[in-house]
Amino acid sequence: METIGQGTFGKVKLAQHVATGEKVAIKIIEKASVTNDTQRNSIQREIRLVQLLHHRHIVKVYNVLEDASTVYFIMEFVAGGELFDYIVENLSLSEWEARIFFRQILSAIDYCHKNSIIHRDLKPENVLIDSNKCVKIIDFGFGNTFHRDKFLSTFCGSPFYAAPEMIAGKRYVGPEVDVWSLGVILYAMVTGSLPFDAPALPDLFKLITNAQYKIPSKLSPDLTDLIRRMLTVDAKRRIKLSEVIKSK
Ligand code: ADP
Repeated sequence: METIGQGTFGKVKLAQHVATGEKVAIKIIEKASVTNDTQRNSIQREIRLVQLLHHRHIVKVYNVLEDASTVYFIMEFVAGGELFDYIVENLSLSEWEARIFFRQILSAIDYCHKNSIIHRDLKPENVLIDSNKCVKIIDFGFGNTFHRDKFLSTFCGSPFYAAPEMIAGKRYVGPEVDVWSLGVILYAMVTGSLPFDAPALPDLFKLITNAQYKIPSKLSPDLTDLIRRMLTVDAKRRIKLSEVIKSK
């Protein structure tokens, strides 16, 4: 049926199962647009990861089909659109509403981390909302497995949501970079803007590595404190996901 999204390597289409009438989303990856081994590996990794993940706030992938020219991810269709558009339409969310979405996002990412998987591309475009206002995380194209004694160093995802250690090319374990991105998402939900924003990448990177951002005074002290602890440049001092979950 119609195109519902644009992915890096092809379109995302709405489709309908002929026998049952059930609607699904199909992410289509044109192999011709995959030009190097890094991209090939990331697609293989996404295929492997999405088939391992089963959580009510992670989009369900029913099947991955492949022919000579194309890979198809057959997914649960999420009708409500992206959290990004929801924020833009509403200008910003109340702390009450942001908390509901954020708790759902946290439960999905906590599940991933407990299963040694990091997302590495968390942003409001990769958080979909269904017709019951239930969050579904998508796009594990930058996902990977992690181990607490091994380090990763690849820069992944959108620069606006990237942790300072990633930008600096330092080694990282994994979960801490997702916590940073979640801090940016939380900020974006309640303010309707990004904490770090500049037209030129070097300027943006400077803002991020110095944690130069302003928290509007209208935000409650608890929320202000939580955002500060998530957007802490020193990854060792940054709040852990388990503590974020325990926060009010
Ligand atoms: P890529 O990994 O290539 O960036 P995404 O997986 O992020 O592609 O999908 C691109 C866009 O397609 C998403 O931002 C979203 O708008 C739409 N989309 C993806 N999966 C679904 C889904 N299951 N239901 C509805 N829309 C989806």
